[in-house]
Amino acid sequence: MESTDYNDPAMMGGSSIPVRVNRKSKPEPTFVKVNEILVGSSEVVIIAGPCSVENREQLMETAKAVKSAGGVILRGGAFKPRSSPYNFQGLGEEGLKLLMEARKETGLPIVTEVMDTRLVELVAGYADILQIGSRNMQNYPLLKEVGMLRKPVLLKRGMMASIEEFLLAAEYILNQGNDQVILCERGIRTFEPSTRNTLDLSAVPMLKHLTHLPVIVDPSHGTGHRWMVPSMAKAAVAAGADGLIMEVHYKPEEALCDGQQSLSPDEFTRLMADLKKIAQAVGRELCQYEIA
Ligand code: PEP
Ligand code: MN
Repeated sequence: MESTDYNDPAMMGGSSIPVRVNRKSKPEPTFVKVNEILVGSSEVVIIAGPCSVENREQLMETAKAVKSAGGVILRGGAFKPRSSPYNFQGLGEEGLKLLMEARKETGLPIVTEVMDTRLVELVAGYADILQIGSRNMQNYPLLKEVGMLRKPVLLKRGMMASIEEFLLAAEYILNQGNDQVILCERGIRTFEPSTRNTLDLSAVPMLKHLTHLPVIVDPSHGTGHRWMVPSMAKAAVAAGADGLIMEVHYKPEEALCDGQQSLSPDEFTRLMADLKKIAQAVGRELCQYEIA
């Protein structure tokens, strides 16, 4: 799609925004529908849960805490993309089954990662939203495979990906006929070692400007520090994010994965009260999906 607006960032640096994700070809926002929840509407959607599913008690206790604090979607990895092959890789299908139990118990829809084209069908059989992780943002066969589903996809920004590359990755999914894509800013690699990643909050207004797809933020992977998560979560909502995905663990100090960036149930509950105020200050509300 050609633009003649030379103030348009899509024209800068020679970048071009592909047609299907481009706001110019669809000015109205796309709502990603997860049961009764509309991601991308005026309501800010809070997704929370453990980095990985570890066992029944950990998942159930964490899921109940997420629900009682007002979270509306439960996250939890069953297949984990760990940097080291010697670290906990997730429970696999057993983890998916536990996620189903947690959904039954709490009514919260589930988002979980799929890493492998061979497992898309399996994971889609359990999950309400399929997550494509940062490390797989440019796994084009995987993007095409989830594009063939008629199920929401949560696409995380690659840790080295430009906005243009991120949108091109989303375009792969839309190009297969699936427009139910949520974009997630989760921090990019920079020269700064004090945080795990550099959370690019400027990506929120930029993406909202360039595309009709909903944009959420992950302040957990974006900072790597539990104590920083509330500040960046609030800043993300103030910047116009349509939702947040955060790591919460019933006992963060015992977590098998990412405990250092996971909020305790108390911390999450306090944060939710603040987020409600921030959302209202920017003319929005927190999504309060009441499960039938
Ligand atoms: C995750 O959300 O558990 C995860 C692994 O995130 P990312 O792909 O952003 O590193
Ligand atoms: Mn994690």
